[in-house]
Amino acid sequence: MSAVLAAYTALGALIMLTGIGGSRFSYYAGLLCDAPANLIAVFALGAVARQLPAGPTRTAWMLLTVAISLYGIASAINMISWLRGIDPFPGIADVFFVAFFPVLLGSIFFFIRATATRVPWMQLMLDAAIFIVGFGAFFWFLVIRPSASATHIGTIKQALTQTYLSLDCMALLLLGLPVLSGGPRSGALRVPLLLLTGFAVMFFGDILWSLMKIRGYYLPGGFQDVMYLSCYLPMVLAGHEQLRTMNAVETQEQNEGPAESTVAQMLPYAAMLTALFVLVYLTRSDMNGPVIMMTMIVFTLTVLVIARQAMVLREHAQVRERMAAQRIEDLYASLIANASDAIMIASANGDLKFASPASGRTLGMKPEDVAGRNLLELWTGEDAERLRSFLVEIAASSSGMIGPVELRLERDNVRFVLEIVGSNLTRDSAVQGLALNFRDVTERKSLEEQLRKLAFHDPLTLLANRNLFRDRVHHALAIARRDGSEVTVMFLDLDNFKNVNDSLGHEAGDRLLQAVAQRLVKTTRATDTVSRLGGDEFAVLLEAVASPAEVEALANALIRALDEPFSLGESRVKVATSIGIASSRSSADAEDLLSDADIAMYHAKSAGKGRFMLFQPEMQEQIHRRFRLEADMANAISNQEFFLEYQPIIDLGTRCLLGVEALVRWHHPTAGILFPGQFIPVAEESGQIVALGRWVLSNACADLCRWRDSIPGGSGLRVAVNISAQHLQRGDLARDVADALAASGLEAGNLVIELTESTIIYNSDANLDRLCGLKALGVRLAIDDFGTGYSSLSYLHRFPIDILKIDRSFVNRLTHSGNGSELARAVITLSETLGLDTVAEGIELESQVDALLELGCVAGQGYLFAKSTSLDELSHSVFVANRTAHWTAQARFEDFTATGRFEALKAARRRNSAA
Ligand code: C2E
Ligand code: MG
Ligand code: MG
Repeated sequence: MSAVLAAYTALGALIMLTGIGGSRFSYYAGLLCDAPANLIAVFALGAVARQLPAGPTRTAWMLLTVAISLYGIASAINMISWLRGIDPFPGIADVFFVAFFPVLLGSIFFFIRATATRVPWMQLMLDAAIFIVGFGAFFWFLVIRPSASATHIGTIKQALTQTYLSLDCMALLLLGLPVLSGGPRSGALRVPLLLLTGFAVMFFGDILWSLMKIRGYYLPGGFQDVMYLSCYLPMVLAGHEQLRTMNAVETQEQNEGPAESTVAQMLPYAAMLTALFVLVYLTRSDMNGPVIMMTMIVFTLTVLVIARQAMVLREHAQVRERMAAQRIEDLYASLIANASDAIMIASANGDLKFASPASGRTLGMKPEDVAGRNLLELWTGEDAERLRSFLVEIAASSSGMIGPVELRLERDNVRFVLEIVGSNLTRDSAVQGLALNFRDVTERKSLEEQLRKLAFHDPLTLLANRNLFRDRVHHALAIARRDGSEVTVMFLDLDNFKNVNDSLGHEAGDRLLQAVAQRLVKTTRATDTVSRLGGDEFAVLLEAVASPAEVEALANALIRALDEPFSLGESRVKVATSIGIASSRSSADAEDLLSDADIAMYHAKSAGKGRFMLFQPEMQEQIHRRFRLEADMANAISNQEFFLEYQPIIDLGTRCLLGVEALVRWHHPTAGILFPGQFIPVAEESGQIVALGRWVLSNACADLCRWRDSIPGGSGLRVAVNISAQHLQRGDLARDVADALAASGLEAGNLVIELTESTIIYNSDANLDRLCGLKALGVRLAIDDFGTGYSSLSYLHRFPIDILKIDRSFVNRLTHSGNGSELARAVITLSETLGLDTVAEGIELESQVDALLELGCVAGQGYLFAKSTSLDELSHSVFVANRTAHWTAQARFEDFTATGRFEALKAARRRNSAA
């Protein structure tokens, strides 16, 4: 819009000033051109007001729009009048002209209000006073007063002329105030300056017009109409500027043109000079008198004083600038003096010119000793060479920072790592050399080193960790591929480590792992990589293996080495290890090799711990089967796929039934009947064993109670339930047992809990507490498979055990030659000494029964008597019949409880041997 207006204004002015087309053309141009320009201005200013946010500025612009509209209406009325050939002054138009001024003054008032909030009031008042007095004098003496003397034009005309001129002057003075108070904000000065310009042009036109009116020769198309036409453009530009300022404030981009602020600063001086100028003008008639002389002197003096003040102000500004520069210099000096980095200035060949105080600390080179010294003398060998080429590189650069490079420095037996950056400041007159910055990064480096180690080493055992191990395997395989050699990986998993951790605490567990690591390293060759993969898992990488026999020999050596008991403080613990072995013959890829070894280890573990196994491709399928089994087991209890069979426990002498042992089976939907050996390890590993144990307990107790009611003399029959170590340690076995007893109504004394030897092997206090808790319920505790586990018998007396079940292997050896019977005898004697009952397992031959009776073992179970079966089937067995027969023949109930039978038989045996 402003571009259109500018073009229009230029065209109109050209026509009027040059008089192209004759005076008549100029006359009409002067008459008609004002209205369109006014209309454009009204639209433009109105648009500005609409876009501004509510506030004094917006009000100012709205009032300004109204004022310019009133002015436009008045001009239009005048134009019509002139067109009809009538001089419109005075006329209706003057009503609008008069109305124009209060609205304009109102607008200016809001402009002042909008700016006044940003400047100190005192300064504004002073500036305003100077401004109004100075320029006011000018207007008064040179514009208003002369027009007052023109009495020949009639009272109304003179009054109106005077009013217009006075109001013009007042409006101009007031418009000067926002310029004075514009302050340092972006564009804040440009708006009032442009407005001031616009109205100054308009009022200049007014002054010309009134002078002509007074002299009586005004006609449209003269210079005053050019003024009237031109006054709108600065106003519209001010509107643009106002909107731009608003946006700039919003986006925080603030910049002040120096030209505008200089104008603002000069205004008071201009006002003063104007007043002086008026004084000179008024006294000009008295050209030779002392007054004009004195006036000239005062004028000159004032100009000189202003000039002097400007000079002083400039000097002050320079001093302030110098002081600020000095302060910055001091600040830099202090920063350099106190910086932890050492800063040095050297020539390209290392000659030192300056060293900051920190150089003493870091490089041992004091600031006062640098003269004549060379930086390169601090280093020797490779690092000196690197520094030399670094200096050359900096010297060759034209700008920017070079580096960093890292140099190692040994001083007073301490090793430092320094990081150096440098820049070429040879052309900087203050430096004239290479500026070098040395930072001591020793600590950071050692931390990085530690972190690197941590990233590749197990912090507990200091062995390689999984990452490094995998990396080494990759590397070894690459070499093996090249020279046709073979790589072998062993995975080791400690058996029973969990027990140590649980019973002796994590600290003991840690010490055990460290001891295991040491034994592994000692047993392997120096070229083998030993790694801890995590938890109780270790791995060994064997490179360039000569033969499978060599691998097996090492595996055996490792098993033997770990089989030796470890002493942890006061306790001696035994951990065995299962080893899985895979070689690059079967898998050429590192990941496959590791996973094969893992699978083989898994098999070694399930095959019975403390052994090694070589990976076979079919193991993979077995593993998958095992995983499937684990998944199937999740629903097996709720699907009622488990069931119990019972194997009778017999009085060896009378072949009466003493009790039954509950043995769990799984009716798998696709695999058929599964035996405990096939799924108990899986259940133990997945943790489902606890739920299974609970199920067995409650069903076994309930089954026995129901069944014994159908048998004469059924009371006193016992049921033995196998409980896994995990159930004792992680579950709440005592509560499960109590629940089973309560639900079934079985007497606690008729329930036997069978635990394997390894379960209680760690005679930890926690285990002891748990067993005592069980015992407190009144149940009996049996050690199953006795003799196969831990060799030390010393723990037996500490635990509240009631029954030892002699393992099948001992019973088996009874009838073989050699020391088989000796071992069984030792066990039976021990149990008698400790007051425990003995039950023999796996009796398959009559001769074994005889031998057992001979040794004093009076109870047993085995295929000789019966395999495990349902209780219904057992009802028809000879052992039940025998019990019934004894029951009716002998009246003493005591003899028919299991314990009673034991006691009676033992007593009889003692009597026999005494006789
Ligand atoms: P165990 O407690 O020692 O049970 C005796 C195992 O020996 C049974 O095998 C039984 O069938 C078998 N057996 C009995 N007499 C003879 C014999 O004369 N000769 C031979 N060769 N074997 C005989 P089964 O049922 O396969 O159980 C194996 C093991 O599984 C059990 O050994 C027991 O440790 C565990 N087990 C069985 N049921 C459960 C259970 O419900 N929970 C837990 N946690 N373990 C169970
Ligand atoms: Mg058992
Ligand atoms: Mg057993």
